[in-house]
Amino acid sequence: AKLLQRAGHFYFTRSMGVDIRERVRMMHALRTAIDEQEMFVVYQPQIDLATRRPVGAEALLRWKTKDGSFIPPDRFIPIAEFSGLIIKIGERVLREACRELTRLQALGFTDFTMSINVSQVQFRHPRFLDMLTGVLAETGAPASHIELEITESIAMDDPDVLIDLLGQIKQTGVCIAIDDFGTGFSSLSYLQRLQADRLKIDRIFVTEITSASRGSSIAEMVIQLGRNLGMSVVAEGVEDERQAAILSSLGCPLAQGYLFARPMPFEQLAGWLKENGV
Ligand code: C2E
Ligand code: CA
Ligand code: CA
Ligand code: CA
Repeated sequence: AKLLQRAGHFYFTRSMGVDIRERVRMMHALRTAIDEQEMFVVYQPQIDLATRRPVGAEALLRWKTKDGSFIPPDRFIPIAEFSGLIIKIGERVLREACRELTRLQALGFTDFTMSINVSQVQFRHPRFLDMLTGVLAETGAPASHIELEITESIAMDDPDVLIDLLGQIKQTGVCIAIDDFGTGFSSLSYLQRLQADRLKIDRIFVTEITSASRGSSIAEMVIQLGRNLGMSVVAEGVEDERQAAILSSLGCPLAQGYLFARPMPFEQLAGWLKENGV
């Protein structure tokens, strides 16, 4: 009882004071981080499970503070969203990833796709489409080799508005992936209307597959769903060969995870791609 009480008290103080103070502090820190270039993008290869060759990479944001410590995106992205700073940050990530894609193309990696996370705050911003077309024009990146990852949670509300917006975005030629698929509750008919190109199976479902019996795993259902709807599927967070083997036997085409490669700076990516048979 005492422990519970203490836990309750902790929760109370955190939510009432410390948490807000911490948020405000981080918001200021974020603002200087943007100005002082403490943020950079790393790239995690995505591979074809059948051939083990890289087919693309996901751009992931990193924040390294002046004292050398890293603040994980799961901690600062929500604050960037809440404060609106994500608009500026997200545009930078997009521009950077597009530039690097153009560079990879020039190096001969012409079949390579760049996946970029787009927050729902960014996605709903009235200038998002203009920003996207502007960055594509400025960087010369091929739209057909760019994929925007949106989370299933955005996919869930105001369907008509979202479907319309996605349609306009797809007009630019970029592809759409539904990230963390399986964690939300979108209906099948809705998913079909979204006309996404790809589903990303969340890591928690990949972790589960080694213990689930065949036919009962969410991963397997997503793979089948992808096949039935003509969408490509990427399994995230693949950490060992057993998971890769099961995914492969279930017909999952693509995967991403520490087993194949960790996210790396761009300077390492081109070398890695050469060594790994692009
Ligand atoms: P996400 O989009 O689901 O990204 C996948 C996360 O899983 C990344 O974490 C990646 O480093 C991690 N990961 C990849 N392979 C493995 C693995 O085998 N095992 C484990 N344990 N983890 C693996 P990261 O980079 O910390 O990013 C966390 C989340 O932050 C992302 O989840 C995404 O939602 C968000 N995020 C990252 N960069 C951006 C960005 O530029 N914009 C936006 N809006 N969100 C971002
Ligand atoms: Ca993602
Ligand atoms: Ca994900
Ligand atoms: Ca995630």
